[in-house]
Amino acid sequence: MIKVVKFGGSSVANAAQFRKVRNIVASDESRKFIITSACGKESHEDHKVTDLLYLCAAHIKYGVSYDSIFEMIEKKYLGIREELGLKLDLETEFAKIREVINRDLNTDYLVSRGEYLTARMLAEYLNAVFVDASDVIFFKYDGSFDMERIAASLRQHMVPGRKIVIPGFYGALPNGVIKVMSRGGSDITGSLIANVVDASVYENWTDVSGFLVADPRIIDNPVQIPRITYNELREMSYMGANVLHDDAVFPVRSKNIPINIRNTNRPEDPGTMIMNDCSKQDAIEPPHAVTGITGRKDFTVITVAKSHSSAEVGFLRKMLTIFEDYHVSIESVPITVDTFSVIVQTKAVEQCLYEIVGRLKKEFEPDDLRIEDHLAMIAVVGRGMKQVPGMSGQFLSEFGRHHINIKVISQTSDELSIEVGVENRDFEAAIHAIYDRFIMEANK
Ligand code: ASP
Repeated sequence: MIKVVKFGGSSVANAAQFRKVRNIVASDESRKFIITSACGKESHEDHKVTDLLYLCAAHIKYGVSYDSIFEMIEKKYLGIREELGLKLDLETEFAKIREVINRDLNTDYLVSRGEYLTARMLAEYLNAVFVDASDVIFFKYDGSFDMERIAASLRQHMVPGRKIVIPGFYGALPNGVIKVMSRGGSDITGSLIANVVDASVYENWTDVSGFLVADPRIIDNPVQIPRITYNELREMSYMGANVLHDDAVFPVRSKNIPINIRNTNRPEDPGTMIMNDCSKQDAIEPPHAVTGITGRKDFTVITVAKSHSSAEVGFLRKMLTIFEDYHVSIESVPITVDTFSVIVQTKAVEQCLYEIVGRLKKEFEPDDLRIEDHLAMIAVVGRGMKQVPGMSGQFLSEFGRHHINIKVISQTSDELSIEVGVENRDFEAAIHAIYDRFIMEANK
């Protein structure tokens, strides 16, 4: 059995966290591939190394001295080295980075050094083999990953009987130049490695014990989600719940490898299992109807009403093309007879709303055109809702009971989620209402 384990920035934020990582890795022989982020925040006032490195790059670009920021980074690493009694020659490493960026700034190279140095220290601390991401994670020129090359080169770097530590977040382009992924990309590195080694599980260690049913800033101590399908997760993260990088799902999903979200500070917690199909476990322990409740505020609804438009072939396409022309991504398109609403994030139309409205008026000469702001969208997600008659009725009546006015409703035919639009000011109350009725009552 092979497990790939990825530790996020908070798991390697200081020497004490490194010790926890060592215990976790040592407690399971099958934890063979270890991916790490750069040191994260130790406390609220602290800064992530990656943020500081981006800040250095911005200083260099504008010709301002980056010394004081770089020194903060040096201090952090030197402190960890000292506390753990490591030998890594960080002085030479830092001098090299300074020399390279003073000569010619490559931002990707600079910010990748956070993961690089963290992984170097972790490899020494775990007595594992360090393998640089630029030697095993390969991009193609179109930005996609070269899976065959990744698999082949990883095989060459494996040493029998030894664990391997790889820095997350970056890889190399075909010409060898370092390229970073989007923020949080170490999750993707872990997923790529899990794919090529056919891991039995991809453990993603962070500072929470898995996914919560609802946002803890709204619900006090929400219950944990023990199991979730990839599709449910996609719905949840699309609507705002974020623990894992969106793109981390694809490499493991294609091979049916489960992701286990775990808490470095509470390794005894089982965390959340993300799987393609939970039906085997669900048969033993049936899931609640609702897996998670999530949502976001600040949407805008643009509604066009025109008699007989429902019968006009191409009406919707023409309408959506106008949004496409302004690169506005659409969240939802509720339609009733002769009335078409388009829901978008308010910030996506900040600069172009009036131009879009002008085009809509010109193109359609509508009977009515309305713009409503301050809409919040709430998604209630659950594989257990499928084919349960009356689920949406129960939701809607719960809103009614709490005097929350529903402005939009949509549900797709896979019955995986129901989305409801309410006023921004009702957002928290609506989440409480659903949580109390469908989670608290089910857990009684
Ligand atoms: N260190 C990078 C970031 O802060 C990548 C990662 O942590 O996954 O985004």
